[in-house]
Amino acid sequence: MTTSSFETIGKPPIDQFEVKPNLNPDDVSGFDWQQLYSELDWLPGGGLNKAHEAIDRHANGPRRDKIAMIWEGKNGEREDYTFGQMKRLSDKFAGALQNLGVETGDRLFLFLDRIPELYIAFFGILKAGAIAGPLFSAFGPDPVRDRLEDSGAKLLVTQPDLRRKVSGILGQLPALEHTIIINKNNREQTALEAGDLDYYEQMDAAPSDFEIVNTSQYDYSIMHYTSGTTGKPKGAVHRHQAAVQQYATGKWALDLHEDDIYWCTADPGWVTGTSYGMMAPWTNGVTQLIYEGGFRASAWYEQIQKHKVTVWYTAPTAIRMLMKAGDDVPKRYDLSSLRFSASVGEPLNPEAVVWGEGAIGMPFHDNWWQTETGAIMCANYAAMPIKPGSMGRPIPGVELGIVDDDFNPAPVGEDGNLVVRPNWPSMFHAYWQNPTMYNSKFRGGWYVTGDRARVDEDGYFWFQGRADDVINTAGHLVGPFEVESALIEHPDVAEAGVIGKPDPIAMEIVKAFVALNDGVEESTALRNDIMRFVREKLSTAVAPREIDFIPSLPKTRSGKIMRRLLKARELGLPEGDTSTLEDG
Ligand code: AMP
Repeated sequence: MTTSSFETIGKPPIDQFEVKPNLNPDDVSGFDWQQLYSELDWLPGGGLNKAHEAIDRHANGPRRDKIAMIWEGKNGEREDYTFGQMKRLSDKFAGALQNLGVETGDRLFLFLDRIPELYIAFFGILKAGAIAGPLFSAFGPDPVRDRLEDSGAKLLVTQPDLRRKVSGILGQLPALEHTIIINKNNREQTALEAGDLDYYEQMDAAPSDFEIVNTSQYDYSIMHYTSGTTGKPKGAVHRHQAAVQQYATGKWALDLHEDDIYWCTADPGWVTGTSYGMMAPWTNGVTQLIYEGGFRASAWYEQIQKHKVTVWYTAPTAIRMLMKAGDDVPKRYDLSSLRFSASVGEPLNPEAVVWGEGAIGMPFHDNWWQTETGAIMCANYAAMPIKPGSMGRPIPGVELGIVDDDFNPAPVGEDGNLVVRPNWPSMFHAYWQNPTMYNSKFRGGWYVTGDRARVDEDGYFWFQGRADDVINTAGHLVGPFEVESALIEHPDVAEAGVIGKPDPIAMEIVKAFVALNDGVEESTALRNDIMRFVREKLSTAVAPREIDFIPSLPKTRSGKIMRRLLKARELGLPEGDTSTLEDG
């Protein structure tokens, strides 16, 4: 992406806002994280726990009866939970976990649709001092097995249909001691398989009060697996301390205020769904909508109208799908409750920012961060003029840089590696049991994000692309290696190379190049079979949308697939340096 062809979208002076923005970006002098830490509540024992900051501190105070969660189910069901109820239920679940012998630091995974119990169980896990690992419910058995195996997960909380989907791999996990099944509203007739535990029975048997384990701010709380160029996804681990930045950026970048109704469309299987679908709104004591249903333009606008959403945090692919659905659709709904909208996960095209002004009455505010950063790092704030196509300016207390490959600062306006000065509060603290990979991300005094960007003379950052082969499809990072590994497990596939192919809606789609075993005939049926095979193993989100058969893959002399070359050929671009190509 290059400089926006649009003018900067101006904003009225800060004091003319109906709701005064929380951050004046021109007045951040003397910023000090310590002051933010003192706004947290802390545990009576002196520790810090995300569940206390998000739920209990409000349940113990004047927000006790305030609605924390408005839940709308996929069949139109509605349930509301106050902070007080969230506390009681998450206390119970923490007690149930203790009854099962869960200890501090255990890894417990959640494989659930967006039902209220997902949120209750998540905070119960944190209260018990364990580490929560939410999984995307569209995952197939392989990604679930990889994550439970790598983390040595002790317990899985899931629901009957998802349990069936992965039943083949559960026996392959020696560390897994318990599977708890939540059969929400008796949606399934037969819920439990041999050895499974029933969520409601466990809750009934648990004590009513639970004293949160006195975790320190440095203790691990959440892990999210994220893809890199090589190997399987790695578990990025976050600490309880991240709460402070999630709280602060909820105020600054999403402009949350006491009376807001907030809607984050991300699933908790991805980091946005926990940092901003749980922590940011609830540490700020804000009511949020959880919508279990999937994407449909009219259903989404209806959610805003029905629940009077005021602050909306979504993603570029969804915005582009809304644009595609047509401008007459939003006109059928009353969206006047909205006062702030933001986007993350992929580059947001300038056209989409501006489209927001006409269609929903305001531009989208793009912001940037990633799994490893744990919270927003760079944003177009409410009170700041938006530059469409830009990710905005760094949040107070965070230093971003653009450097060349030798870590020299790149001149203003020139592309370079996007880097962050380490030790921001929500910085990830490990890739689970992979210190070599973790350490490799810190070089030249910086954390290296893997993105390329540039900064302009006003200090706005502009995303330029990934520095590696990682694919961003609909906001989900996909490691080509993971998809290639699944492809070559198909009995007819000899080798495979995977790239991201530009796409007007999803930004990139996963495209595979496949060489078949000797004697196997190419056919449409085989192509479909390979696609189905990978979809079932991984998930629809990750499986290739296009497969081309080729006789053999271009490889370096050391045998590495040259994805760069596959991509250049696909896009009709110059092939660049091919001197390391296998056949000279
Ligand atoms: P994840 O770790 O899955 O959240 O993905 C993080 C990656 O998504 C970043 O490193 C970027 O490559 C991309 N990304 C996130 N937000 C933006 C944004 N606002 N503009 C461009 N790319 C983004």
